[in-house]
Amino acid sequence: MDEVLAGALRCGIYERLDYLEMLIADGDTTSLAALAETELARLSIAWRALLALHEPDERGRCTRCSGWRRGRLFPCSVWVVAHEHLIAANHHADATSAAP
Ligand SMILES: [Zn+2]
Repeated sequence: MDEVLAGALRCGIYERLDYLEMLIADGDTTSLAALAETELARLSIAWRALLALHEPDERGRCTRCSGWRRGRLFPCSVWVVAHEHLIAANHHADATSAAP
């Protein structure tokens, strides 16, 4: 992929995320429900695809993330971010909503 295409791809993805965040912030209940139905499935599939690329090998290392000489020891940053946003963030939200 050349530099222009790579730049367009990067911009396109950020624009898509901006659009989704704008809908989340300003969308009415009906459009949010429709959004959730399609986008939750897509985001879940995207996370699975990303995590599949970063599955540890038989030595427990991510071959996609470069470490010192060998792959990065599991969990690499992709798994750390996934845990932070898919698991840990939910626990924080639960703790907040459970507070009196
Ligand atoms: Zn990785």
